[in-house]
Amino acid sequence: MTTLTHPLPARFDLIVVGSGPNGTIVANEVYRRRTDVSILVVETGPEISANAGEHLIESPDKEARQAYERLMRLAKQIEYVQGSAADRQLTETLWSKEEVGIVPAAYLGNDMREFPGAAMAWNIGGMGVHWTAACPRPFGPEIPPAGDGDWDADLRTAQRLLRVDQTVFAANPFAHPVLDALRSALPAASADRSAQPMPIAGVPGPTGKVRRTGPRDIFPELFSDDDRARLVTGALCTTILHHDGVATGVVLRDVQSGQEVEIAAGAVVVAADALRTPQLLWASGIRPDALGVRLNEHASIDGGVVVDPVRIGATGMRIPEHPLDEPFIGAYWSPSNGADQPTQGQLMEQKSAETGHTIGMGWYVSTEIRPENRLEFSEHATDAVGLPRITARFSYSDRDLERIEFARGIQRAAANAVGDFDQEAAVLLPAGASLHYTGTVRMGAAEDGTSVCDLRGAVWGFDNLFVAGNGVIPTALTCNATLTSASLSVRTARSVLA
Ligand SMILES: Cc1cc2nc3c(=O)[nH]c(=O)nc-3n(C[C@H](O)[C@H](O)[C@H](O)COP(=O)(O)OP(=O)(O)OC[C@H]3O[C@@H](n4cnc5c(N)ncnc54)[C@H](O)[C@@H]3O)c2cc1C
Repeated sequence: MTTLTHPLPARFDLIVVGSGPNGTIVANEVYRRRTDVSILVVETGPEISANAGEHLIESPDKEARQAYERLMRLAKQIEYVQGSAADRQLTETLWSKEEVGIVPAAYLGNDMREFPGAAMAWNIGGMGVHWTAACPRPFGPEIPPAGDGDWDADLRTAQRLLRVDQTVFAANPFAHPVLDALRSALPAASADRSAQPMPIAGVPGPTGKVRRTGPRDIFPELFSDDDRARLVTGALCTTILHHDGVATGVVLRDVQSGQEVEIAAGAVVVAADALRTPQLLWASGIRPDALGVRLNEHASIDGGVVVDPVRIGATGMRIPEHPLDEPFIGAYWSPSNGADQPTQGQLMEQKSAETGHTIGMGWYVSTEIRPENRLEFSEHATDAVGLPRITARFSYSDRDLERIEFARGIQRAAANAVGDFDQEAAVLLPAGASLHYTGTVRMGAAEDGTSVCDLRGAVWGFDNLFVAGNGVIPTALTCNATLTSASLSVRTARSVLA
């Protein structure tokens, strides 16, 4: 790991912008397949824990672990973001580039009034050091179109890299009765689509805590002294240099000193999240018609239920304790079922003195892909770091609102099977709150103005400029986005090598 205060080689074969899960997957896949390729990963944020790039739950710093657990116990991504900002006494007007961690996107000076839940990571490892790590698979119409390869094989590779496991909470005796109750309430056509343990990116630690996968687990060599793969931090990529449809390098700015350097590249991959990837392309004068257009996000309905042991046939069963630093004691998945049921449940189980034995009833509902929902980039105004100011345009269509009502019925049926459900407390979260935004640099089979890149992730008109991350997903997801984007990053790495 280095900063721009130390001299870097003038050229790398591959430069990846962003050290989150998607940037590190592309870099790792290239690194493993070719020993003669030099790789630079560029990250604007600083270290957030002692072992850079590891998930906060693994941090040797007790305070960081405890802060993660406390915020995660709120069991809502938006509360994690807002709680984290409040802890640091950040406000929309007080954010400065010295601040590390998760930040509401508006705090960087963007106009997020129509997408107020949106957030950005400003740290090594991106959101991948903060995430809950739920990794359900996309299904049916959610699966992106096939590229050169085999969707299932790329999905399996992504699951391996993220260490996706469905057994991490298997010791919880409530798993069987809870899942039985959910399956009776929501019958599914196949076992594959009926209620089941939530796949989680992580492995069980010795104390039962889930050691969640962070970018350091995906690509350990990137965080060691390795000549073939370098990580430069505190370096904001401000421009992708290009000429006649060929990316030639990047301009990097040292966040502290403001000093800029140009580094040449054989290929560039931008994996800077679904908001900042299109922003960087725009800033670099790469402006396909579809850039930022068709911003999509599943609607999130919150809710929770106190488990009734009588109702689920678990009378007398002992509720397990939380392992040290682990915010959950169980996690369940109620999958979507295609167009018939475009909604999934992510059900997180907890125990606390204040609220008792509870299961969070979070439901995600896919929404229509519409060009009205979009990011716009200013020609003149800039954000807090000097890149084009982003305005998000987002609303729900009548069909979205119907689906949300439908999902409420599914949520009610599931919750009432487990305990007494307080429907009034089940609120639709603000747009952006899922942190799973897609479509802003979407892939497509043809250069017809509705996509930014081809099915390999190559930006139209370029052979050596690629985009990766949730923004490339062209479908409307019900599921959490990371496993889907990670599978596409595996595909994109192959294209980079080709
Ligand atoms: C609290 C929380 C819970 C979550 N839970 C889940 C979950 O259960 N399941 C799930 O699927 N997803 C979840 N997510 C979302 C998940 O973390 C993201 O989908 C994932 O991290 C996206 O990976 P990425 O690499 O594309 O982007 P990111 O992880 O956002 O990384 C992008 C990186 O690019 C850097 N960057 C941006 N612009 C520049 C630039 N110009 N120059 C240099 N660097 C730049 C950023 O600093 C950042 O580090 C959660 C997120 C949070 C915060």
